Amino acid sequence: MSLPASVDIVIVGAGAAGLAAARALSGCPLTVAVLEARDRIGGRAWTVPFEGEGLDMGCGWLHSADENPLVPLVEPSGLTLDRTPPPWQSQAFNHETTAAEQTEFRAAFEAFDQRIAEAATRGHEAPASTLMEPGCRWNGRMDAISGALNGARFAEVSILDYDAYRDTDLNYRVREGYGRLIETLGRRVPVVTDCPVRRIDRSGPTLKLTTDRGMIEARAVIVTVPTDLIARETLKFDPPLPDLVEAATYVPLGLASKMHMTVTGAEDFPANSQLWGRNDTGDTGGYHLRPFGRPMIEGYYGADLARGLEAEGQEGFYAFAVDELVHLLGSDMRKRLSPVVATMWGADPWSHGAYSHAMPGHAGDRKRLKAPVENRIFLAGEATAEAFYGTAHGAWMEGERAAREAMAALGLDPGPLPGDEEQ
Ligand SMILES: Cc1cc2nc3c(=O)[nH]c(=O)nc-3n(C[C@H](O)[C@H](O)[C@H](O)COP(=O)(O)OP(=O)(O)OC[C@H]3O[C@@H](n4cnc5c(N)ncnc54)[C@H](O)[C@@H]3O)c2cc1C
Repeated sequence: MSLPASVDIVIVGAGAAGLAAARALSGCPLTVAVLEARDRIGGRAWTVPFEGEGLDMGCGWLHSADENPLVPLVEPSGLTLDRTPPPWQSQAFNHETTAAEQTEFRAAFEAFDQRIAEAATRGHEAPASTLMEPGCRWNGRMDAISGALNGARFAEVSILDYDAYRDTDLNYRVREGYGRLIETLGRRVPVVTDCPVRRIDRSGPTLKLTTDRGMIEARAVIVTVPTDLIARETLKFDPPLPDLVEAATYVPLGLASKMHMTVTGAEDFPANSQLWGRNDTGDTGGYHLRPFGRPMIEGYYGADLARGLEAEGQEGFYAFAVDELVHLLGSDMRKRLSPVVATMWGADPWSHGAYSHAMPGHAGDRKRLKAPVENRIFLAGEATAEAFYGTAHGAWMEGERAAREAMAALGLDPGPLPGDEEQ
């Protein structure tokens, strides 16, 4: 699609939030264009093909599945909903950790979560790490899990924000890939790809956007880019919006990275099981064995460990994964494993990370981020989803919210959402 000269609403970014916003606007008497920097849609929802299956580079789990608005869209999209319980809800298959130790670890984590909930009820704000029990042998493991959950260590995570996340404990997957689902849902959306937006001039009665493919004018704009791009001013507002930039700075993207590997003799391991590399440090990966029963292992690494592994490149990253799996499962793993691909979201110029966390003292900045500017610039994305931040469905819901706000700003009754009946 070529770039129109002018539309009613421009949506910046064709990830889950941008595509949801466009679908929500699809039945209205308004002209809409979605401008996407990459050469594909989906953003951090991205499935790559491998041996006839799909591998998720970004989101993989439909979290809080009983409240997740994407769950009812899976089967009507011609895709397969997989309800196998996630590996983190089963006992780990781990030679190093006894069943009693695993129970002890779960109890320690539950007690930590309880302290978080109690502190949040009192409105107590501080780094979540301050509620870890000093000297507890499981603190390293908990921080490794924080790396996976938040993309950051508990020291960098706000108690109030962490507590605000709504996990209903029900998690499904899309067999063909979560990225495939988002891509399928976005197929009919009018997207201009390879079209980074560099600047939004808000000095006049219409908004003027400068892109790598020319200029476009709009009455309203929905911005769905990751917070780091706003904080770094890769996308600039003119006149500037220091309050927005500040809020984005305090809700940065953490990093989580995956290493997809194949393994021979996979039947030796229980399907859909999980183990962690080490017990005594946060600098360790989680390993999902035989996801969907496939002869594969998906390694997952968070926070500064993930940044370091990305910096080492595909080979160095893979060597770390192999060393951990050899330590856990024996030296023959060295020849049984083969690398497929490691994700590099931190180095990706259109994300700079995986998902957002609010820094201690800044839980309120998600709300600040989504405050409309002049009732014509609306922000949406996983970072503005106060209860479902960091998720694809949170981004989706926020895209729909921003679409409603933009419609109302342009004088239309947002009413019930159009867009879903096209399935
Ligand atoms: C490794 C990993 C694992 C994850 N696991 C899960 C999971 O299991 N479950 C889950 O629900 N979520 C998961 N997530 C998070 C989920 O993928 C994201 O929260 C969600 O996809 C974000 O959607 P979004 O629309 O907010 O942002 P994005 O998907 O980042 O979309 C923003 C779009 O804007 C584009 N863009 C950026 N700058 C510009 C510009 N200047 N001009 C034009 N376009 C621009 C980008 O290219 C992108 O396409 C995971 C993410 C990662 C990285």
